Amino acid sequence: DRSVSAPLPVLGRDVTVPLVTGGEVTYAALDYAASAPALQRVWDDVAAYAPYYGSVHRGAGYLSQLSTDLFENARRTVAAFLDCRPADQVVFTRSTTDSLNLLARALPADCRVFVFETEHHASLLPWREAQVTYVDAPRTPEQAVATLERALADREPHGPALVCVTGASNVTGELWPVRRLAAAAHAHGARIVLDAAQLAPHHPVSVRDLDVDWVAFSGHKLYAPFGAGVLAGRADWLREAEPYLAGGGASRRVSRRTDGGVDVEWHEGAARHEAGSPNVIGAYAIASACKALTEAGFDTLVAREQHLIRTVREGLAEVPEVSVLSLFGDDAPRVGVVSFVVAGWNSSHFAAALSAEYGIGVRDGLFCAHPLVRTLLGSDPETQGECGAPEAAPGEKSLNAVRVSFGAGTPDEHVERFVTAVK
Ligand code: PMP
Repeated sequence: DRSVSAPLPVLGRDVTVPLVTGGEVTYAALDYAASAPALQRVWDDVAAYAPYYGSVHRGAGYLSQLSTDLFENARRTVAAFLDCRPADQVVFTRSTTDSLNLLARALPADCRVFVFETEHHASLLPWREAQVTYVDAPRTPEQAVATLERALADREPHGPALVCVTGASNVTGELWPVRRLAAAAHAHGARIVLDAAQLAPHHPVSVRDLDVDWVAFSGHKLYAPFGAGVLAGRADWLREAEPYLAGGGASRRVSRRTDGGVDVEWHEGAARHEAGSPNVIGAYAIASACKALTEAGFDTLVAREQHLIRTVREGLAEVPEVSVLSLFGDDAPRVGVVSFVVAGWNSSHFAAALSAEYGIGVRDGLFCAHPLVRTLLGSDPETQGECGAPEAAPGEKSLNAVRVSFGAGTPDEHVERFVTAVK
């Protein structure tokens, strides 16, 4: 049955929505790049554990011990999922945004950060208290490597440096040449953090093979619910930094000084940056999703997703009014994220019509990547609206775009309905 077939069952398959044209239809969730529905398997695992959760690292009782074990096991599962090096550390955070902000707070003194202007705001903005070089938008993967190399080589003085780059764009779905960018960073004495928010749900990510120093991703895009994310990678900068949050759990010893103040000895491991009671259910859910994806096999998932991408892109190519947004061109390898504009349509109205008339949920806007979307639309930065739905005047070119995105829980019927609706 094409309406239910998908490699991995997800929640929300039975949601029906009313149509303005009358009747109702099964909801087609085609906004995985914002948040993917949770896997049924994740939900089942969490439901089985939830009645028994307890406080992590804080109790002598059985359920507290159980939760501590599950939390620490979740760390190991994530490390295996990311193919981390033995000395790497997995820190549980709230999200990719949180992970990158944590790393930004752990930069060594005088660190310069290099980031492409095309990044998602979560990768673009956390570094603003450091010295940042914004690298111009490349139009090919080769140009990305070459411009980064030039920027790194030109830096003065030649101190510590960090490159932050996305693995897969949340706007174009295009894969970035992460291995080559990592090699360029390392050749110039810099480190690199990979924003894998959009890559990890669609592709295997090997820290070892890509040779990146850190990886960040979010549970809610990886088929787990909200509230938990990961920063995995080298321990040294994190060990030397002030704790991200000050509080219990991060502190090993706290004592009053004779002058009336307080002395604190902080933990050195992941706990240093996990102050407060850890989100054990969130970590457990992420670990469950990692296991489910690994067991399903990325070979199968990728092959199937490429089929859906072809359906969408070939369908859109048949509509002359549609322009698909792309930085690297049609042949670039990509994940299941496609953004486009439709001549004569305001993108917000188009997305609203897909929802009201076809029960399809997509996103419209600038996708928290304003400089990138403006570059792709060729629009004037001065006249742009903010994140959300800027309105184009009638007859003018789009100021925003429509994005359709999908993954392991998407049945064929959803993308087929989308193509029919656009046509
Ligand atoms: N990076 C990329 C490439 C993303 O697509 C997103 C989410 N849209 C983020 C980072 C931020 O993720 P979160 O909102 O979960 O922090």
